[in-house]
Amino acid sequence: MLKIGLTGGIGSGKTTVAKIFEVLAVPVYYADDAAKFLMNNNVSLKAKIIENFGDESYKDGKLNKPFIASIVFSNAEKSVLLNSIVHPVTIADALSWMESQKSEYVLKEAAILFESNAHKDLDLVIGVSAPLNLRVQRIMQRDSIDEANAMTRINKQMDQTEKMNRCDFVIENNEVDLLIPQVVDLHKKILTNLERIHN
Ligand code: ATP
Repeated sequence: MLKIGLTGGIGSGKTTVAKIFEVLAVPVYYADDAAKFLMNNNVSLKAKIIENFGDESYKDGKLNKPFIASIVFSNAEKSVLLNSIVHPVTIADALSWMESQKSEYVLKEAAILFESNAHKDLDLVIGVSAPLNLRVQRIMQRDSIDEANAMTRINKQMDQTEKMNRCDFVIENNEVDLLIPQVVDLHKKILTNLERIHN
């Protein structure tokens, strides 16, 4: 079975594309949701977070998000530390989940696939790309934030062109190319080239 990454910058439409693949019966692992779940439920991960960030990291057994956010947003080293604790656990969880699926291929949707080195365990990576103005508009609308805030979030991430250059396939989520036919075409291409991709 092939393990395929699905990545793209904030507001590019990764989750939207992932949902279309799900309609085609492709199982999808959502790394962001999984990381949140693991931080709340994985006993050894919770212990490591408490060891490094203190007892205040959890409130009534649940991750104290404002507390953690206040630390990592203002301190780059702490942000790297948190990632170095959470990423390996999420990567391992994704691998065991993907290997337990029964389909021809599975997807792992993650914004920071290359940044966290998670791509190394995957056979291919699909990128989702969208024009900057559309990403800004979509983030502003979805998250009820202003343009400056949306731009700050975009600029914190790896440059979109650089990210797309590292992908094996790119889906264009603009207002010209229709999204569903692109996903269906890519799905067919993957299925007809399974052997070749694998070797
Ligand atoms: P994030 O990294 O923040 O999770 P994402 O890359 O997963 O973002 P989505 O959540 O899929 O992006 O899309 C961002 C917003 O834009 C969502 O509200 C989504 O419904 C909307 N959107 C995405 N693609 C389209 C499209 N082709 N047409 C209309 N709306 C779209």
